[in-house]
Amino acid sequence: MVERKDIVTIDGPSGAGKSTISKLLAAELHYTYLDTGAMYRVVGLQVERSGFDLEAENGREKLVQLLATLEMTMAPGEEGQKTRVFLHGEDVSDAIRTPEMAMVASRVSAEPEVRKKLTEMQRAIGQNGAIVAEGRDMGTIVFPEASYKFFLDATPAERAKRRQQQLMEQGQRVEYGELLTQIQKRDRDDSSRALAPLKPAPDAVVIDSSEMSIDEVVSFMLKTVHEKKK
Ligand code: C5P
Repeated sequence: MVERKDIVTIDGPSGAGKSTISKLLAAELHYTYLDTGAMYRVVGLQVERSGFDLEAENGREKLVQLLATLEMTMAPGEEGQKTRVFLHGEDVSDAIRTPEMAMVASRVSAEPEVRKKLTEMQRAIGQNGAIVAEGRDMGTIVFPEASYKFFLDATPAERAKRRQQQLMEQGQRVEYGELLTQIQKRDRDDSSRALAPLKPAPDAVVIDSSEMSIDEVVSFMLKTVHEKKK
């Protein structure tokens, strides 16, 4: 039997509301909020900046070198704010949160070397428990011993709508149809990859948030956590 840890995992496809909900839940529980998507985006940004072609013959070798020298630090945002992320000391929190970087992150996330490095970093951050970890493989691969696991879903149409709203609030205008196509591609790629594919852990509580408000989802999760703790 695995020893259960005081960790909440929230996995699910993009645009399901994971970030907003994880932040709120972490604040309610006084836990640290870990945004693992941001970590994949940072690697993606560095690959882009380095200008090498992952598909080229020496692509993998270059990626290994890049990972060996990658300096990434994360600072939990103020309440209700995003996690700030630093790449070699530079604040890249806004640069990583574009639709283009989401696609690049998805591409690099299928690379075994990238997953290995980030999984180790994530486990180190979560070793003392008391975290809400959000991503695609938190409950399945990174923290299988977590006590509280959720899989947050919503219809692709609803997720594209939410993503558009979120980007608009950040001052980015992206067409709904374009976002829907990107979301469907990322869902497909993330779910079908060989390593750590997006799927609910067998012991996760699956929530379809299409018809639920943010507050309703957070309240439901809090109730589930408190009931399990008893
Ligand atoms: O959650 P976010 O949209 O920021 O994630 C960007 C991409 O990073 C995802 O589409 C996915 O491919 C990858 N990712 C992952 N495993 C995680 C978190 C994110 O593969 N735990």
